[in-house]
Amino acid sequence: MLRAAQEIAGVLGEDAVTYDADVLEHHGHSDWSTSNSPGRAVAVVYPRSTEDVSAIARICNRRNVPMVPFGAGSSVEGNFSQPHSGICIDFAHMDKIIAFHPDDMDVVVQPGVNWVDLNSHIASSGLFAPMDPSPTATVGGMVSTNCSGTNAFRYGTMKDWVLNLTVVLADGTVIKTRRRPRKTSAGYNLTSLFVGAEGTLGIVTEVTLKLAPIPEDTDVAVAAFPTIRAAAAAAAALIRSGIPLAALEIMDERQMAILNANGSPAVRSRRWAEQPTLFIKFSGTTDAVRSDAARATSLLQQQQPHSIGDEGERSGRKGSNVGNGAVLHFARTKQEEHDLWAARKESLFAMTSMRPPGYAIWSTDVAVPISRLADMVDWSKAECGRLGLFASVVGHVGDGNFHVAMLYDPRDGEQAAAIARCVRRMMDRALEMDGTVSGEHAIGIGKKECLRDELGDQTIGVMRALKRAVDPKWVMNPGKVFD
Ligand SMILES: Cc1cc2nc3c(=O)[nH]c(=O)nc-3n(C[C@H](O)[C@H](O)[C@H](O)COP(=O)(O)OP(=O)(O)OC[C@H]3O[C@@H](n4cnc5c(N)ncnc54)[C@H](O)[C@@H]3O)c2cc1C
Repeated sequence: MLRAAQEIAGVLGEDAVTYDADVLEHHGHSDWSTSNSPGRAVAVVYPRSTEDVSAIARICNRRNVPMVPFGAGSSVEGNFSQPHSGICIDFAHMDKIIAFHPDDMDVVVQPGVNWVDLNSHIASSGLFAPMDPSPTATVGGMVSTNCSGTNAFRYGTMKDWVLNLTVVLADGTVIKTRRRPRKTSAGYNLTSLFVGAEGTLGIVTEVTLKLAPIPEDTDVAVAAFPTIRAAAAAAAALIRSGIPLAALEIMDERQMAILNANGSPAVRSRRWAEQPTLFIKFSGTTDAVRSDAARATSLLQQQQPHSIGDEGERSGRKGSNVGNGAVLHFARTKQEEHDLWAARKESLFAMTSMRPPGYAIWSTDVAVPISRLADMVDWSKAECGRLGLFASVVGHVGDGNFHVAMLYDPRDGEQAAAIARCVRRMMDRALEMDGTVSGEHAIGIGKKECLRDELGDQTIGVMRALKRAVDPKWVMNPGKVFD
């Protein structure tokens, strides 16, 4: 492995390779994740072009050395960990926008481009890339985990926004999966094969992304409910109503209390009801937003007769703030709209910032068919309560996808084992409901067993055959997705 690193330095230059222990540690461990491995890469390498990546692959493949791509390291299932050591490939220097085609509504980027930077850069064109995972995430990592985020309810997941990929295969061969039109039925859909493959089939070196028009107007409402089941049931009703919401998110009473205690000053400028809460975003033309907001209000009133009030002003409606604990509140100003949504976006940060020293966070990620959502959320909360865990529910409930984030002390073997059993039961329950063990965080090292339970040996067997065809030496991010 060290010889491979030296050979790479010979081709890319000495400054493109580092053996620094802190850098290796940063590239091999995630504080956001419980799925870490003790292994570390022997070196981190920094390519600048597809040709550099191809040279790295040729060297590693010849020497049977594992290659582990690294974007921003924000994935949470141990996706970029290095259980078999090897060479970690960091795309920090491959962060260029190669071509922007506003008339075609697409953009060609290198994998190290950060999605927030990309959207700032192209904002004046009136277009944006809709996927919104961690604000630190890069396009290469987002493609490789098939990420989503709050916008997925309206816009779908990353797979829906990738037009084509340039990929370096294990032996250094460079392929382009297709060309740039919005549709094609020419040949196998290789683009989708690499989306969500977690770097186990090839290394993505260029991505053409479709872009969406930035909506003319938006509005945000929050609705607090007496119980999590009531909130989840209301979410399911909103989804089935067909109202084209931009996003539909949920947080439970514990997460709302965390915001009151630990949110940013803007978020704490409001005293949040410590009740299960839906965060609802509307987007479109101003008229459409108004009409969608009115339809959603009336639907929620039917869901919770006499208990949903409407404090809205901006959307032109006035109403009473009724008792009984359930209240619908519309943002009154653009600033308030921003602050309400910020509360959702910073929820995980707020939780981690209150974690006692030595404690870890275990975040689950299941998705179930919409009709089972209320049952699944309710069951998960009850299960955590039964075990006496500090756990909160937060998630993209509009997609039937949510996370239970649990704080625990990994030094306490009994507690860690109890959490592992609880998570396992949650996965089993989601599968009984015909759901999935990973709505958006992918499999990594953390969920290999669960993936087998979800898909079965024969389906995994087909995946294995595909892997063998493009990576016969099993050097591309080994130890991930399946063994
Ligand atoms: C606070 C926080 C909030 C988050 N919110 C969301 C959310 O709402 N939705 C969501 O989906 N996720 C979310 N995530 C998870 C994470 O942001 C996503 O998984 C994201 O897509 C990872 O991008 P990254 O650049 O950090 O990739 P990394 O973590 O660096 O890598 C992810 C995987 O992709 C592979 N990879 C990276 N680059 C390449 C490449 N060029 N070619 C091939 N393989 C590559 C890596 O080997 C690894 O397997 C969140 C994480 C955090 C910490």
